[in-house]
Amino acid sequence: MSTDTSARVAAVLPVLHAHAGEIDEHATFPTAGLDALARQGLLGLLVPAEHGGLGGDLTDLVAVAADLAAGCMSTALVWAMHCQQTDSLVRFATPWLAGHVLPRIAAGEVYLASVTTEPGKGGHLLTGVAPLERTGDLLRLDRDAPVVTGGLHATGFLITMRASDEATANQLSLVYADRDQLDLTRATDWDTLGMRGTESVGLRISGAVPAHQVVGEPGGFRTVAVESMGPVGHLAWAACWLGTARGAFADLVSWLRSDRRSRSIDLSSDLVAERLARIRMDLELVSGYLHRVTGEITALRAAGESLSGTDTQIHLNTLKVTSAELTFRAVDRMVGLAGLTAGYRRDSPLALERRFRDLRSASLNYADDRLLTSTGALTVLDRAVRLA
Ligand SMILES: Cc1cc2nc3c(=O)[nH]c(=O)nc-3n(C[C@H](O)[C@H](O)[C@H](O)COP(=O)(O)OP(=O)(O)OC[C@H]3O[C@@H](n4cnc5c(N)ncnc54)[C@H](O)[C@@H]3O)c2cc1C
Repeated sequence: MSTDTSARVAAVLPVLHAHAGEIDEHATFPTAGLDALARQGLLGLLVPAEHGGLGGDLTDLVAVAADLAAGCMSTALVWAMHCQQTDSLVRFATPWLAGHVLPRIAAGEVYLASVTTEPGKGGHLLTGVAPLERTGDLLRLDRDAPVVTGGLHATGFLITMRASDEATANQLSLVYADRDQLDLTRATDWDTLGMRGTESVGLRISGAVPAHQVVGEPGGFRTVAVESMGPVGHLAWAACWLGTARGAFADLVSWLRSDRRSRSIDLSSDLVAERLARIRMDLELVSGYLHRVTGEITALRAAGESLSGTDTQIHLNTLKVTSAELTFRAVDRMVGLAGLTAGYRRDSPLALERRFRDLRSASLNYADDRLLTSTGALTVLDRAVRLA
């Protein structure tokens, strides 16, 4: 991460720390955190410099997401998903749409929400139910969206729709809509175990957009998903989860070294040493694999190659599932090591309890089962077993 980007992140972190408990308590959107990110230009991290952005790459995305998550995982995920949507626009928007949206993202005026989940198909990314309907030059959309992170606060939306009434369930178009092109009705609240500050409410969405607001080819969302939304999502999520667990561990280690430590924890015991080692090893493994896969994706993009290779898809799926499992296991072990008062109580300054609840969402945020079945099928195709 450049010194300039580090300084921007450092300016935002105190805001995230200050509001993490409150947005979790009330399950409200991190408005102060998002405003701080916008002021620091970080909503435009992935927007190219020619559109006024910071021109960052995936290595920057991963580093910033991890640092933000140490302060507040909900805010970090909100930001990371916005960057994931931004990457899809940078790579696949029509020139008109890029000129219309990217400078406003860079200026901190547009926060992007993602609408892929839909009733009747569950979380499956590459299928859809509701169709686009063409009326003259406009594409009409009318859709339920059961989980939309920051949906009531977003100023731009990327929405998957079946390409037309005749299209099959897997012929999807990705559509960009400005907030004022849509009618939004809140359909469900967001009262969850963790990730409460993402305020991922259910929405009923209707509206109309011109055809040049389709991102990628009409019916061609699969390409956007394979080349951008999927890979960038997995890298950014893994970074958020790792940053959350690493932040928790840093707090725990400081506490263990301080005189605030519970006296019943004997730092000279082999049991405590073994527990610390196991937590550290989980974080080391996720960190190593995250940086390895980030390097692989960056190199393929630099060479102008597709990310659709069997081995690359296996590596991306493995990153998502493994980081979800190991970071949650790590924070679970931290709760055990810290004990009831420091680890489990909601009012503990270590906030392990909040991070535990937040990280429980990792395996659900795109179901690990879906990725495992996909990885199993792909594994049979990769006879050379090209490991990361
Ligand atoms: C914090 C958070 C934020 C989110 N934000 C958004 C957002 O902004 N926009 C958005 O569109 N969505 C969002 N989502 C939704 C997310 O992308 C997934 O769609 C959702 O978490 C999946 O919900 P599900 O488990 O009910 O559905 P499913 O994925 O359909 O899973 C339902 C059940 O079926 C099982 N299952 C599914 N496939 C298989 C299989 N092949 N083999 C065996 N079992 C299987 C699963 O394990 C699970 O038990 C968010 C989710 C979270 C947790």
